[in-house]
Amino acid sequence: MRIDPEIPLETLTVKAESREQYTQSSLIDRFNRRIDYLRISVTDRCDLRCVYCMSEAMQFVPRSQLLTLEELYRVGKSFVDMGVGKIRITGGEPLTRRGVMQLFESLGGLDGLRELTLTTNGTLLARHAQALKAAGVSRINISLDTLRADRFRAITRTGDIRRTLAGIDAALEAGFQRVKINAVILKNRNHDEIPQLVAFAESRGMDISFIEEMPLGVIGDHDRAEVFYSSHQVLHDLQRHYALLPTTETTGGPARYYRINDSDTRVGFISPHSHNFCEHCNRVRLTAEGRLLLCLGQEHAKDLRRVVRANPLDDEPLRQAILQAMQIKPKGHAFDITAQPVLFRHMNVTGG
Ligand code: SAM
Ligand code: SF4
Repeated sequence: MRIDPEIPLETLTVKAESREQYTQSSLIDRFNRRIDYLRISVTDRCDLRCVYCMSEAMQFVPRSQLLTLEELYRVGKSFVDMGVGKIRITGGEPLTRRGVMQLFESLGGLDGLRELTLTTNGTLLARHAQALKAAGVSRINISLDTLRADRFRAITRTGDIRRTLAGIDAALEAGFQRVKINAVILKNRNHDEIPQLVAFAESRGMDISFIEEMPLGVIGDHDRAEVFYSSHQVLHDLQRHYALLPTTETTGGPARYYRINDSDTRVGFISPHSHNFCEHCNRVRLTAEGRLLLCLGQEHAKDLRRVVRANPLDDEPLRQAILQAMQIKPKGHAFDITAQPVLFRHMNVTGG
């Protein structure tokens, strides 16, 4: 079905009466974890080629195989019907997907969705920040691994840091509830900038999270074990400059947070290697081609595109398929930074 940009997506989805049969706790897996968070990758394409995320010559999914915006909305809405309160839009670079603002607007209007958030590289934010805020996006994560233009270009292979910095300014001006910087730290590439990145975030009232590199896909740039820089090392480096106080605050994700004295800024650590967070996993991921991935670090998945397309006028089979998928959510990831990648899927497929 082609989408007429004039028709709100809500009106295209029919027959959702039976959602009442689901309760807030419909989505529980075999390990008694409640799933209340969906991440949607709206495209695997991107205007950058970060060295830890992609190889230089990537093959992307043909556009004809992607879920349409209407189908993405149907899946998002079905999850919300079943108790999911938080949706994060990610990618690839989500803002490169044509018409994506329409999806933000439709999801943003869903009763029952508490939080609509976005992860972006920021290059197109200057253009879209105001409209994202108006659509109901409350928090934005922006990826920035360095403050140096030459390093930014080297890490992203193609990028111009000025565009991401302009995107950060636009996000701050638009007045989102929180803006957070995401930084992947690689030894001898950007590890010496850790305190400067925190100072940058603090000076603008933003949070910042440091992410350990995960071994997803063949990237052809570096040996992941060689550049590994653990969250412990990041914390250790920072403690020479800042008094960091551990907090029990959470934003519903795997990050562990610290507060800086006398500041609003939270410093987070996403540490799949040094601190396994699977026990409390509350999320699943939808790829742009409609595969529901039950774990970032495993291949357990359910093909929702087939279900959506076989039932264009009825969302009930989709909800049933989602319910069944909870039974194959694995206990945890199996990342091993020292091994050859066992997962050939790159990070841009799932959006982290
Ligand atoms: N393009 C957007 C961006 O860069 O923010 C959204 C998608 S990107 C895949 C989401 C997050 O995953 C970014 O913060 C990025 O730094 C992180 N990331 C990408 N590849 C990674 C990897 N192999 N290990 C850890 N984090 C990774
Ligand atoms: Fe693109 Fe984000 Fe991957 Fe960088 S991390 S290549 S910006 S999808």
